Amino acid sequence: MAGELHIGNDQFQYIARISHGKDSLKMLDVIVSRGLRLDRITTTDIWATDTIRGEHPKMVKFKEIADEFIWRKYRIEVEHLCAMRNGQKVTYEKLFYHIPKRRNAGGGQLSAKTGDNPRISDTVGPVVPIRPQAKRNPAGRRAFLHKEGAGARNSKSNIYGFPVSINRRGAWCAKLKTRFLESPTTRGGTKIVEYLGIAADEPKRFGQLNERKRAPLVEFGIEEGLCGLYCQYNGLLAPSYETSCRDGCWMCHNQGVNQLRQLRKEYPQLWALLLKWDTDSPVNFKANGHTVHDYDRRFQLEDEHFLVPGDPRFKWSMLDGDLQYRLF
Ligand code: SF4
Repeated sequence: MAGELHIGNDQFQYIARISHGKDSLKMLDVIVSRGLRLDRITTTDIWATDTIRGEHPKMVKFKEIADEFIWRKYRIEVEHLCAMRNGQKVTYEKLFYHIPKRRNAGGGQLSAKTGDNPRISDTVGPVVPIRPQAKRNPAGRRAFLHKEGAGARNSKSNIYGFPVSINRRGAWCAKLKTRFLESPTTRGGTKIVEYLGIAADEPKRFGQLNERKRAPLVEFGIEEGLCGLYCQYNGLLAPSYETSCRDGCWMCHNQGVNQLRQLRKEYPQLWALLLKWDTDSPVNFKANGHTVHDYDRRFQLEDEHFLVPGDPRFKWSMLDGDLQYRLF
């Protein structure tokens, strides 16, 4: 049998880490149909607040359906993990409002400062040695500070705010899924082997594989296209493959204008929360400087037929001056 490693014994647990994407779901089929050992199936959730999931509501619904499919087919309950700290969920909102302690430019002393690069390690997870801050470059931050108008009220706030980042470490929220879970190789003294949903035609991801991190799809030469067909046949294609619904957080700063428009229309309560965060954030929602309130105004003008959704002639400057023309 391809790729069966001889480290399996009772002290090892074999855990499939799934994202509910097509590769993950086909991977489970391969594990079971090819006779690989499987003890547990886990997935990692992101929480926006203590009670609201961070994934798009349509994805949350889909994951429930997929979990039920997995239970019926394999008789293994999918375990939902999330970032925890001192027995509490680590949520986007908690990190958003956290006031980080930072080293000043001199190196030794800790102080709270507005505008420095957020470090999630100040809040949760293992303590990482902090390099002395280089001298700040205010010009480099300009795009991230609120301009005048809605959202400008708390521009002197010390909280993290939105996780938009221009530094190489990336946005702090990206670490919500990876930093606070069980050790990748042990759990409670039990050694584990992880199965990852990496397909045979994703060679860029092969570097993370080893004896303890296996990719059954790679071991059996199964490519992404076949994974998609399998999910389609079983009615398990995530909404992100079939609709404009995004496979990410509903509050994500990386989502496009269409997804934001849909969020506002279909989930007004989530949109209201995003607007509240926008008001409180010292950092603009988008890297190009636009705020959630900018989008809200744009969509409102669309609702009132002053603007056409998706109009290629749209310019943000239209929101600042008088609208030159009423389209309808
Ligand atoms: S980058 Fe976007 S999708 Fe990814 S964790 Fe952050 S908010 Fe969620």
